[in-house]
Amino acid sequence: MLRLGDESVNFYLLEQDGRYTLFDAGLPAHYEQLLAVLADRGADISAVDAVVLTHAHPDHIGIAERVRSEANAPVYVHADDARYATTHEQAPSERPATDYMNHAFARATFESAMASGVAPIPVVQEVQTFGDGDVLDVPGQPKVIATPGHSPGQSSLLLSEYGVLIAGDTLEGFNVLTGRYGPQVGPDGTNFSTEQALKSLERIEAIEADLLFGHGNPWTWGTKAAVASARALGRS
Ligand SMILES: [Zn+2]
Repeated sequence: MLRLGDESVNFYLLEQDGRYTLFDAGLPAHYEQLLAVLADRGADISAVDAVVLTHAHPDHIGIAERVRSEANAPVYVHADDARYATTHEQAPSERPATDYMNHAFARATFESAMASGVAPIPVVQEVQTFGDGDVLDVPGQPKVIATPGHSPGQSSLLLSEYGVLIAGDTLEGFNVLTGRYGPQVGPDGTNFSTEQALKSLERIEAIEADLLFGHGNPWTWGTKAAVASARALGRS
């Protein structure tokens, strides 16, 4: 499993028998990074078989359309997030993200987002939808565990063979608006429903796997400890 992105946004590339699945799709500026990583391995964009999205927020779909069209690879997303992947519509959040501007961390995040030109993210022209319990027939054979809350279709993807759970933003390693450290659910300013996000943690806490977050470093101390952290930290 290869980690792509930058210090604030992660996405992942898995190789199986020379074929690749991209889990989430970062920001538009990350396309060259993907090409470089593939080239290092003697491959090119045509080796990518699929893009699987944990959810359809802009910082997770950045290069999805470009990979779809260049690699002729399907883009998979939970049915409840499909409209947010294919249009510029955004799921509402509980609180405006601008409420967090008293945090220097939030101001820095917004400034760097403006500088790298987060908007507009190209929408995905065509998606394949999945639902809870589906096992996708793509490299890695991810099993979908619906963990809604951060977005309506937020999903966690279990790669049993690798002992890895790709959490996307079901859990985040740090708080993207306040900088608070430790596994936690996203802040209200980014969540469709924080209450639902906290409830969804029940669906992953018994799974034995390492966690890969959409934001923050990999967590190798198990889902149980990560969920306990998220409950202790609570909403923000
Ligand atoms: Zn995110």
